[in-house]
Amino acid sequence: MVKRIGILTSGGDSPGMNAAIRAVTRVGLNSGLEVFGIYNGYKGMVEGYIEPLTRNSVSQIIGKGGTILGSARLPEFKDIEVRKKAISQLKKRGIEAVVVVGGDGSYRGALSLTEMGINCIGLPGTIDNDITCTDYTIGFMTALGTVTDAIDKLRDTSNSHHRCSIVEVMGNRCGDLALYAGIACGADIIVTSDTGFNEEDILDRLRELDLIRKKKHAIIVISEKITDVEKLAKKVSLNTGFSGRATVLGHIQRGGGPCPFDRMLASQMGEKAVDLLMQGIGGQCVSIRDNKIVAYPIEKALSMPADSRKPITNLFERLL
Ligand code: ADP
Repeated sequence: MVKRIGILTSGGDSPGMNAAIRAVTRVGLNSGLEVFGIYNGYKGMVEGYIEPLTRNSVSQIIGKGGTILGSARLPEFKDIEVRKKAISQLKKRGIEAVVVVGGDGSYRGALSLTEMGINCIGLPGTIDNDITCTDYTIGFMTALGTVTDAIDKLRDTSNSHHRCSIVEVMGNRCGDLALYAGIACGADIIVTSDTGFNEEDILDRLRELDLIRKKKHAIIVISEKITDVEKLAKKVSLNTGFSGRATVLGHIQRGGGPCPFDRMLASQMGEKAVDLLMQGIGGQCVSIRDNKIVAYPIEKALSMPADSRKPITNLFERLL
């Protein structure tokens, strides 16, 4: 039976990572395990920046943004020699299994470690909701709240000045944040990698909103990595009756205390991760699917098509 486990946060941070650290630590300790915090992701694992976690060291963090363990990127972790170094650091401390909170890159690292004899369980910590095997990732709902709040504010001022606000949101090629925020804010146009990007269609639609629908403002929510929103705003000003303004929300979306949903999700997923490790299971990741906490083999999870989740794209069209 496993006696010592580690936990780390890796890749881009997200609100709720601390709630996951707390859950793994408390459930682990209450199950008779010793729990170690591995700082700065895989980098800290290689460098041996590893310390025991106690009940007290994770108190008062459930509502805190960021991650108390820090996060980092270490591309060299793909190299087997680097991973061997990391494993010897774990072995030195008797750590036999690890919970990895992060995105798909972090999951790949977790799978490689499992294949080398250290059981790892992945938890989806990212605001991008770009892990297809789970309906929601830890941090997505908080980021959605942040984006919704920002767009509501932009709408007020956009309405006063006959503007078209073009709001770029994160998502790392996953359109969920844009789609959900667009629906939640009553946007006029949503652009994601799924909808495709056609500048002429957007300008036509804006002219229609201005001249036929007589709208005082327009809101476009667009995923990052699709187009230069500043340039698009200029084109809107030149070619439609609206004055175009671009807002890139940026890293604000990653910050802030987690909303109750993310705290609950992280707590439930943390509990599941400890239970799996105690059963001697590794190479899996925890998901929420149809409101149930479940686990999938990481390999299968990484190849699941995005449309395996409930589509809500049609809803946006029906609300226009
Ligand atoms: P995210 O986990 O948010 O997707 P990254 O893609 O940057 O973020 O991955 C986080 C870290 O996971 C990387 O810096 C690297 O240390 C590790 N990692 C990513 N891909 C692999 C891989 N194929 N094999 C081993 N480790 C990996």
